[in-house]
Amino acid sequence: MKIKSTPSPNFDERTLPISLIVLHYTGMETGDAALDRMCDPAAKVSAHYMVREDGSICQLVDEDKRAWHAGVSEWAGETNINSASIGIEIVNGGHDWPAPDGSLPSYPDEQVMTVIGLCKDIMTRHGPLQLVGHSDIAPARKIDPGEHFPWYGLAAAGLGHMPASVNDRRILFGPGSRDRGVAIVQRGLAHIGYSARITGVMDKDTKLIIEAVQRRYRPDQIDGIIDVMTMSLIKSLAESS
Ligand SMILES: [Zn+2]
Repeated sequence: MKIKSTPSPNFDERTLPISLIVLHYTGMETGDAALDRMCDPAAKVSAHYMVREDGSICQLVDEDKRAWHAGVSEWAGETNINSASIGIEIVNGGHDWPAPDGSLPSYPDEQVMTVIGLCKDIMTRHGPLQLVGHSDIAPARKIDPGEHFPWYGLAAAGLGHMPASVNDRRILFGPGSRDRGVAIVQRGLAHIGYSARITGVMDKDTKLIIEAVQRRYRPDQIDGIIDVMTMSLIKSLAESS
């Protein structure tokens, strides 16, 4: 795997063992713009790797150092995600830089294949790691790598789990619903790793976490409502985690 070194000054020391890989999109007009920003000491952001559209890789921070990519975030009760993770920025304009026809810009196959290869390569050094999107660990702030990221392609390559589900969109719990069933869903979300609190109410935070789940596992309908399909996805994910 050919990796170009483009060192960033934006890192410090890890205080936790590595347990996660966090995937991001750059969300900027070009890869070079993202690289410049991540190498600018004033920006105070970075990642371990950046993968360009053509599948080439830059390494900005050594894996044993703590890159600054996650921001305020939480997974499985841990809030120091930068210390516990390796961050990969994938060059893609995302929601701010749509394609000319207004759709979200697609991730080219070469790039996706490289992300898969890079994740597997990282795991040869650190053992099996959980794979999350920035939107999974910061559902109230972030929506990258976006509903257009091919999570199913990664799952087909053995990275992450894509549960089977019934295509049943009947609504169970919407905004403000107060029900034992909501608490059960929240428990399931927390068990998967999401920062869900068990309130039994479909509050704002729960809605945002449901959207994060849908963005990753049911990208054609992201509404933050618990329908039969969303409930079955969460149940299946919780059972396998
Ligand atoms: Zn991000």
